Amino acid sequence: DMSKLLQRGDYEWELPKQGSMRVPGILYASRRLIETMDNKVLEQVRNVATLPGIVGASYAMPDAHWGYGFPIGGVAAFDPEEGGVVSAGGVGFDISCGVRLLRTGLALNDVRPVLPELMDALFNTIPAGVGSCGQIHLNDLRMSEMLRGGARWSVEQGWGRPEDLERIEENGRMAGARPENVSRQARRRQCDEMGTLGSGNHYLEVQYVEAVMDREIAASFGLRTGEVVVSIHCGSRGLGHQIGTEFLIEMAKAAKNSGIPLADRELACAPATSTVGQLYLGAMRAATNCAFANREIISHLARQTFSEIMPGAKLPLLYDVSHNTCKEETHLINGKETRLLVHRKGATRAFGPGHSDLPPAFRESGQPVLIGGSMGTASYVLAGLAENESKSLGSACHGSGRAMSRRQARRLWQGRKVVDDLRGHGIHVRSPSMRGVAEEAPDAYKDVDEVAKATECARLARRVARLRPLGVVKG
Ligand code: 5GP
Ligand code: MN
Ligand code: MN
Repeated sequence: DMSKLLQRGDYEWELPKQGSMRVPGILYASRRLIETMDNKVLEQVRNVATLPGIVGASYAMPDAHWGYGFPIGGVAAFDPEEGGVVSAGGVGFDISCGVRLLRTGLALNDVRPVLPELMDALFNTIPAGVGSCGQIHLNDLRMSEMLRGGARWSVEQGWGRPEDLERIEENGRMAGARPENVSRQARRRQCDEMGTLGSGNHYLEVQYVEAVMDREIAASFGLRTGEVVVSIHCGSRGLGHQIGTEFLIEMAKAAKNSGIPLADRELACAPATSTVGQLYLGAMRAATNCAFANREIISHLARQTFSEIMPGAKLPLLYDVSHNTCKEETHLINGKETRLLVHRKGATRAFGPGHSDLPPAFRESGQPVLIGGSMGTASYVLAGLAENESKSLGSACHGSGRAMSRRQARRLWQGRKVVDDLRGHGIHVRSPSMRGVAEEAPDAYKDVDEVAKATECARLARRVARLRPLGVVKG
């Protein structure tokens, strides 16, 4: 209900602090996006603002929509020294789900003639769908090595390139991972799932650069109009999901034992310094490495496939960003450098120019922020803006965001018809699940152009390039 919001700028809205809220809520969006945002988002932004140790505000990005406990498109940071919490629902079930973008150096006209063949080959090589299994089978020892090593492990195994590593957040390996905190059940679910896409919203998409909005930054990213690129969106598969499920139960107990009142039981959380909090952080970081390793292996498979069909094609990595994370970061809070646990759920870290945590390649431009749209509309490459440090703790949106539930989408569309319609627009979809395709119909998502524009106008990230889909392997 919009009447609760104070407009702070053309693209900034405040949910004033009241009742048990410890901080205000701040939403970044255009008026149109605010008017169509589901009411549940405001309620969830408010609920998050009541949690112990929260600093700054409870933030929502322009793509925000309802999620489990915390909104998707939500950012919340907690100070461990002030009783701050860590929350499994604040990270999301698909721990370290994220997007990476590979350049191809190929022109649209080179790829169009072989597109159907290329999409068939990608679909045959990269397992997609619920519970899909890959070619890699891990025993317990190798599982632990993978959970500790992340994308570095994949590279060491021969499934990836060393030069990719500096173009992955955390250099492809999250420190502080504790494989011993990952349950037997979580390991069991993952042992055959490395190098697989998973279901639903996850995808490998062949796209082309339709338009460049910021020439200088696009050039520094190596993106040119008409060039073909590949985007990969997936996460930590069954392992992350199992960890999330287990720790929600443990955190519900921990919140009770610590006397943390929960406005919604889905907000289950534990003090960051508590035993459960520390166990979760160790397991969550291991799952982050699993997601890094997984996206690296999928890239390797995509590279092999490309080089079979287009000999000589190299697919260098632009960047790999996660959008379901909890990271320890230092931010300036009330004039003081403070170590925080920043939860970004369906939100992307978006550090701006000059940020010391960025690799040299992105120090001048700001980090690439990779935004999915849908399989029928545009996607975007943005670059982080330094102003976002004080606005959103260095964060931006992660996609267009759902405009309706999966169930609503299933009622409105038939998967087969969606595939045929997209084919009519020159987009080749390959998916094991027509039900999944219906749930993912382009109109089930918000207007990505509006979200990208709002993100720029709110000064969170600037638009660099707009991408169009050519072919999609959908989970
Ligand atoms: P999530 O991580 O919240 O599941 O999804 C992230 C974003 O990916 C969504 O908000 C949506 O905008 C985008 N997305 C979902 N499916 C597709 C797809 O098939 N292709 C592209 N390019 N983007 C998608
Ligand atoms: Mn995701
Ligand atoms: Mn995911």
